[in-house]
Amino acid sequence: MRAAVYHGNHKLEVEDVPEPTTGEGQVKVRVSRNGICGTDLHEYYDGPIFISPSDPHPLTGKAMPVVMGHEFSGVVTEVGAGVSDVHEGDNVTIEPIYRCGQCRPCRDGNYNLCQSIGFHGLMADGGMAEHTVVPRDQVHHLPDSVSLEMGALVEPMSVAYHAAGLAEVDDQSRALIYGAGPIGIGLWFALRGMGLSEIDVVEPSAIRRGSIEALGARTLDPTTQDVAGLVADATHGDGVDAAFDAAGVAAAVESATTCLGERRPLISVAIYDKPLVTPLINLVLKERRIQGTLCYTADDYRAVIDLMSRGHYDTTGWVDTIPLSGVVEQGFEELRAGRRMKLLVDPTA
Ligand SMILES: [Zn+2]
Ligand SMILES: [Zn+2]
Repeated sequence: MRAAVYHGNHKLEVEDVPEPTTGEGQVKVRVSRNGICGTDLHEYYDGPIFISPSDPHPLTGKAMPVVMGHEFSGVVTEVGAGVSDVHEGDNVTIEPIYRCGQCRPCRDGNYNLCQSIGFHGLMADGGMAEHTVVPRDQVHHLPDSVSLEMGALVEPMSVAYHAAGLAEVDDQSRALIYGAGPIGIGLWFALRGMGLSEIDVVEPSAIRRGSIEALGARTLDPTTQDVAGLVADATHGDGVDAAFDAAGVAAAVESATTCLGERRPLISVAIYDKPLVTPLINLVLKERRIQGTLCYTADDYRAVIDLMSRGHYDTTGWVDTIPLSGVVEQGFEELRAGRRMKLLVDPTA
């Protein structure tokens, strides 16, 4: 079968590899769509970071070379011994976390923080391939009302949903989202799904503002508008109930910590390449806080799939599909250049 195999920095080759077979407790999936993630770009342009060049991962036993891809959906084609609740022909989406089940975060139910965490598509052969094999506990069924294309977006939408859940907001809350990339869009859908209507998205790029406005969002341009002043006016000086950093730049962190109300959180869902300088006095004076967030658990997957089944998510204008054969030229390079927002790979093309 054909697959996109990571061999190191700037080396992602579409090549023929042996088709995997199922072992006990495993499920084989014919991949329908696999989204390209910022993490994949990071691995390609700046890595290896998560993919180990030589040391086998403790839970998967796998090191480089590895088939990339951790955001995917597909159809079950085979189940291994001991799997009784997944069947051939089922439409599924994959929650790509390997967890040990033993460490403290795993025991507490926070396996997204497992001390030995691994990802399918980084520490095991992933979804940029015609077929892949996953453990049963990574499989979530898709109802008929959720397409396989939509199913490939459950992973990034769950990252955003988990982040939104950490903000302790309700339908009366007001929120600010910094950054209108795929995670910013996911935050907007997640918060709307939680009943919020007062949400502003802060984004300097006119193209990205246009995309999220077309979905129905309200935006602010920090290059021409006084975000803090507008928030103060709109909230009679109280500030917003939650802010989200999906931009990862110092200007966003500083603005967010200025706009928050007292004792309210900035939820940080960005990848910070470098340390940044920001006035932490903004936290001290109003007992504000910065809260990190990582991945998701099965609860977030279930919530997102449920919202999708009710037509809550709209992919118009920000999601496109490319063939596996063009994964680097039409995929990674286009995303790197900022010409596309979210790209799904079709492994059969
Ligand atoms: Zn990802
Ligand atoms: Zn663990």
